Amino acid sequence: MTRTLVTGGSGFIAAHIVDVLLKRGHSVVTTVRSADKGDKILEYHSGVEKSKLSYAVVPDMSQAGAFNKAVVSDPPFEAVIHAASPYHFQAKSRSEVDAMLSAAEDGTVGILKAIKAHAPSVKRVVVTSSFASIFDPKKAPDYKYSEKDWSPVTKEEAYQNPMAAYRRSKVAAEKSAWDFVEQEKPNFSLATANPPLVLGPIIHHLTSLDSLNTSNQRYRDIINGTSQSKLPPTGNHLFVDVRDIALAHVLAVEKEEAGGKRFFVTAGNFSNAEIVKIIGEEFPEYKDVLPTGEALKSGDYPPEGVAGYDNSRSLEVLGIKYRGLKESTVDTVRSLQPLLGK
Ligand code: NDP
Repeated sequence: MTRTLVTGGSGFIAAHIVDVLLKRGHSVVTTVRSADKGDKILEYHSGVEKSKLSYAVVPDMSQAGAFNKAVVSDPPFEAVIHAASPYHFQAKSRSEVDAMLSAAEDGTVGILKAIKAHAPSVKRVVVTSSFASIFDPKKAPDYKYSEKDWSPVTKEEAYQNPMAAYRRSKVAAEKSAWDFVEQEKPNFSLATANPPLVLGPIIHHLTSLDSLNTSNQRYRDIINGTSQSKLPPTGNHLFVDVRDIALAHVLAVEKEEAGGKRFFVTAGNFSNAEIVKIIGEEFPEYKDVLPTGEALKSGDYPPEGVAGYDNSRSLEVLGIKYRGLKESTVDTVRSLQPLLGK
């Protein structure tokens, strides 16, 4: 049993991380931005004893010292998973971009400083990074990516477009985490989980599909007919199921040999057109709203090829067995159905 602090428990991925930790017998404290969000998490896990799950409120992690109290616990933490970070493509003005970069980078450095100063019992920290901090748009479209690759995206580019702002937030945060460990020689070792697009069922609380997490919005738009006239291009053609990336985080806590490593955690390639095909086969009730013909083609694989991947480290060190797109799609649609129309 490892007592673990998980940041951002109200988020799509962190909700699954909390779930996997509890199922594997660990005890968890999760940070949230309000007590209301924390109470929803406790409600979802109502069968779990108080000593195994609780929350701490951290309203804004870009503030200095934001995590100083949350990292202190009795019994003390042995591990921290830092999953909270802004994930959207809405940062357009300079101040919005600055806020995103600060939450990501200052939030990451802030929690590492807090652990070093106030939580000497922590032996492993896992930071949720991203394929965004690996991807380089200047490389050939079919380049094969691995953990040795780093995004070259600059702060200036971040101010030019919201995608670059998100990518910059992730690479700056991850680099500062590795720099912190190298320079400060803290009591813990670091691992990062670098997923591409994360798809899969939602278990965090949502009042409506309008507040659906960014990476699952394509499912919502396919099943409510928004994509019928033109399926959007897939963008990044790599995915991982949320349950697999959550397990990867927990295994990176549990396995001694994961320390000091980045993990490019991906199940492989996919396209929006493949998702539509699976939904058409498995959910005949959506047949009339799915794109077909030319409208479907725009979400298919492009002729120039798509990014390749080497996920061997995640297989060998963590032992992940990846779910395929069909399982992920079926379970995601089922999880969204109760919210349709809300
Ligand atoms: P969500 O938007 O569902 O979760 C983000 C979490 O971060 C929420 O709990 C949010 O709290 C919290 N958060 C954001 N800004 C702040 C802040 N300033 N202070 C405190 N907490 C904050 O996104 P995901 O679960 O999808 O993403 C989680 C992590 O995974 C992120 O680091 C993201 O970059 C990374 N990732 C996600 C991918 C995906 O496809 N989903 C792909 C690759 C990486 P609240 O909800 O209260 O605002």
